[in-house]
Amino acid sequence: MKRIAVLTSGGDAPGMNAAIRAVVRTGLEQGCEVFGVEHGYAGLIAGKFMELGARDVGGIMQRGGTILGSARCPEFRTEDGRTKAIRELNQKRIEGLVVIGGNGSQTGANSLAAAGYPVVGVASTIDNDLYGSEITIGVDTALNIALETIDRLKVTASSHQRAMLVEVMGRDCGYLALMAGITGGAEAVLIPEYETQPEEVAREIWRAYQRGKPHAIVVVAEGAKPNAQGLAQYVQEHGARLGFELRVTILGYVQRGGTPTYFDRYLASRLGAAAVEQLAAGKHGVLVGIQKSEVATTPLAEVVAGKKPLDPRMLELARVLAK
Ligand code: ADP
Repeated sequence: MKRIAVLTSGGDAPGMNAAIRAVVRTGLEQGCEVFGVEHGYAGLIAGKFMELGARDVGGIMQRGGTILGSARCPEFRTEDGRTKAIRELNQKRIEGLVVIGGNGSQTGANSLAAAGYPVVGVASTIDNDLYGSEITIGVDTALNIALETIDRLKVTASSHQRAMLVEVMGRDCGYLALMAGITGGAEAVLIPEYETQPEEVAREIWRAYQRGKPHAIVVVAEGAKPNAQGLAQYVQEHGARLGFELRVTILGYVQRGGTPTYFDRYLASRLGAAAVEQLAAGKHGVLVGIQKSEVATTPLAEVVAGKKPLDPRMLELARVLAK
């Protein structure tokens, strides 16, 4: 394999740059020319390739986001779009592609693989909802950012005897909320996987007040039912007794923008390098991820069909440690 390309797609995640760097430098080590594709599948369809040398990826590891840019590209969901993309790759004589991204991006990679194009995925999403990798690039940094905010909110909440609803990312997956809840010392966690009655949460906050807690922190995933706004509205409309004054903080995009942690840089470096090694060995149509602390590959078709459930023991741990 003499020419390969790399793209980042879907939601950006801290650590994507370290993965790009690893792909480029491992590719060079294997004797390949390496090309970066701008703005994910949109750039693939538009033929936006740039050759990347070792120096072009210097100094990027400590930066959040992705130097290649990311995009959501509806055209790639169509066969026409994918045919155009493969035509561009063939025209540039590129023999293999590395796709760094989450569920949607790996679904796109799988459809390229199904069309016969050699592609390898790298597990990268702050949601940690990708089947085939126990942990994905970006999760650790996003969690640390959420934790720093929760720690700060606790300080002010204790001073004013407040209950804080902290909304973190996670439209369909409660991993971030659950883990931030456990390690941030939350009194309750609300996640999309389980519907919770607002009166139950209000009761939990009241119980925390009665136990003499100086504050109550509730971590809410954005896709939880109810979400943070919904809960606050319920409390206001029903005059629910909490003991505390209630405030809402929505973390939003600040969770994505952080400087990648040691762990994300390490994970991205290993997975980026492993993706190129797979391509060089003529193995493709797989996702490169981490299982039992080792790099492991899973066929993209399985990744796309699979669901990664939350560990129920973590739910129990969150409940017990909130005493
Ligand atoms: P993420 O990879 O973070 O989950 P998205 O779900 O937005 O992000 O997906 C990123 C891109 O992957 C989409 O904009 C689209 O170009 C491509 N994609 C998503 N789903 C499919 C699909 N079913 N078929 C082909 N391409 C897809």
